[in-house]
Amino acid sequence: MQEPADAAARRAVEPVICYPNETLPVPDMVLYAAVRKTAKKIDEVLVAPRDAACFRAAAGQFFRISSFEGPQVGDLNLWNAHDLSERFYSGKTRALHGTHLTTGQRMWSSFPHLRPMATITADTLEWYGIDAFGGSVHDVIGTRCDPYTGNLLAGSQYHHCCHSNLTRAVADDLGVSLQQAEPHVHDVLNVFMCTGFTRDTGQYFMKASPVRPGDYLEFFAEIDLLGALSACPGGDCSAELSSDSAACYPLLVEVFQPDVAALSGWVSPSPNGYDRSHGR
Ligand SMILES: [Zn+2]
Repeated sequence: MQEPADAAARRAVEPVICYPNETLPVPDMVLYAAVRKTAKKIDEVLVAPRDAACFRAAAGQFFRISSFEGPQVGDLNLWNAHDLSERFYSGKTRALHGTHLTTGQRMWSSFPHLRPMATITADTLEWYGIDAFGGSVHDVIGTRCDPYTGNLLAGSQYHHCCHSNLTRAVADDLGVSLQQAEPHVHDVLNVFMCTGFTRDTGQYFMKASPVRPGDYLEFFAEIDLLGALSACPGGDCSAELSSDSAACYPLLVEVFQPDVAALSGWVSPSPNGYDRSHGR
């Protein structure tokens, strides 16, 4: 194909940020840090390898996801505990914050709510930054490993992808069938996963996660949350998904309750202010 004469000039146009985020409501990280000092652990949930588990964190509580046995990636779903139609919106979170999340950034909820569900208050892998391949940690660019894509690409019937793990966990937690639970599962925050896009072909890539036992990602719950976390069958995601061949480790979710007095001055965010008249 022939390039136009001004191809170089067109490519040289400087990009502009789609959603300049200087006007996003700024989380009060100083308040969160002070509140966290008063918090005591009230619950923990162990997520077995190649399986998932649900947990709850009320508005104002903190929850922490930890690696403690070996390098392991986790796939996280969040819902409003009282209305499962309000759930984590990976695509909009990516548009607002970028491809990977770290301290001070937030997990935003679906339309018409579009409010912060959880704010990241600590990330022991924040030092990683963006590596020479364009890779970084905790992405909102992948979806979740699932048996449908495996079947499409390899004709497989594998049942312990994160999608299926999350479906079973939600079914068990809500006491509903797998068919009723499955539509609640959505695109995840890939906790500890190291990913990016190749510069030459723009393809989604993964590489061995830099996570080590003792590393954690901690969140402040902005609204009452139901969470589900899957310990990905890819383990550290250094080689492949959708099989039982990778070394796989458990993950730990801990929930912390702060002193209520320390939370005075904080209010749970309201749903989005758009009037929903859509021009009619
Ligand atoms: Zn997975």
